[in-house]
Amino acid sequence: MPSPLPIDTAAMLDFLAGLLNTPSPTGFTERAIVYVRSKFGPLGLIESETVKGALLLDWPGRASHAPRALTAHVDTLGAMVKEIRPNGRLKLTKLGGFAWNTVEGEGCTVFTASGQEVRGSFLVTRASSHIFGAETGDTKRDDDHMEVRLDARTASAEETRALGIGVGDFVAFDPRVEVGPAGFIRSRHLDDKAAVACIFGAVKAMLDAGLQPAQRTTLHISNYEEVGHGAASGFPADLIELLTVDMAAVGPGQASDEFSACICVKDSGGPYHPAMNQKLRHLAEAAGIPYQVDIYPYYGSDGEAYWRAGGDVRVGLVGPGVDASHNYERTHMDSLVRTAQLLAEYLRSE
Ligand SMILES: [Zn+2]
Repeated sequence: MPSPLPIDTAAMLDFLAGLLNTPSPTGFTERAIVYVRSKFGPLGLIESETVKGALLLDWPGRASHAPRALTAHVDTLGAMVKEIRPNGRLKLTKLGGFAWNTVEGEGCTVFTASGQEVRGSFLVTRASSHIFGAETGDTKRDDDHMEVRLDARTASAEETRALGIGVGDFVAFDPRVEVGPAGFIRSRHLDDKAAVACIFGAVKAMLDAGLQPAQRTTLHISNYEEVGHGAASGFPADLIELLTVDMAAVGPGQASDEFSACICVKDSGGPYHPAMNQKLRHLAEAAGIPYQVDIYPYYGSDGEAYWRAGGDVRVGLVGPGVDASHNYERTHMDSLVRTAQLLAEYLRSE
């Protein structure tokens, strides 16, 4: 049995930690794109950006009659300032789909239009148990009862505006990245930064082994996935296959786990292309890569965004297992390594 390519785990983890620590709520992804570009730069692929701001990396293949692409996204959940309240605190509007309680108590940064960064934290409006008693627990976590408390001297809307803060400013929640000795990686936004790291690990493994992809391949680093249209554009017109690399949902009833490469064969948008599903299974089997096949009930992907936009290609989906997705997430190095290895098998496969 041919063994999978070795992955430079230190380089992949370093890439991931740096990306996780780069704030990139949907709409505010430029820094993350610059970061990814700086890391892929030395690998020598041909770089460009779409008008919308996605990063494209083109990689010549041994053949180009059936071009392929991989896509993963750097944009994450986050928020924007909706209103400045009379008490100087900020009412937010969500970017992407999540529940407010998943970021309650989290530190955050407000990025002002003039380029300032103001720190704060995100709290329920009746935060103090000594003042509100049981109401602190009983208050519904909705837009009207959550707010940013700024780490600045302000008690009025006027004082907050004087800090340079205004409606439409982006807000990023702290990722709280922790890499433990047992191989677990705990952080917000492993969706989908873990998958971008897997692509990085796969490409580096190929180059380290002196391998070229079987087909001309485009790496598409998307920046609007969490709102549904990230990879709707940006691919070559002659593309035949699109492999979406996005997190696998781990939880009760799911086959996915934090230790395997997880192949998604169906989600809310329907089944992925059967030829891609089969190919991924066969490649994992042939290389002896532990994998799972799964279906996600509340999930959509950038591959489907391209299908909906009219992309006439075969779409598949694979990714590392992420526990508590769109919450305080966790994965394991094993899942990252195996996903990267399966991506490398895909890239080199005829
Ligand atoms: Zn995602």
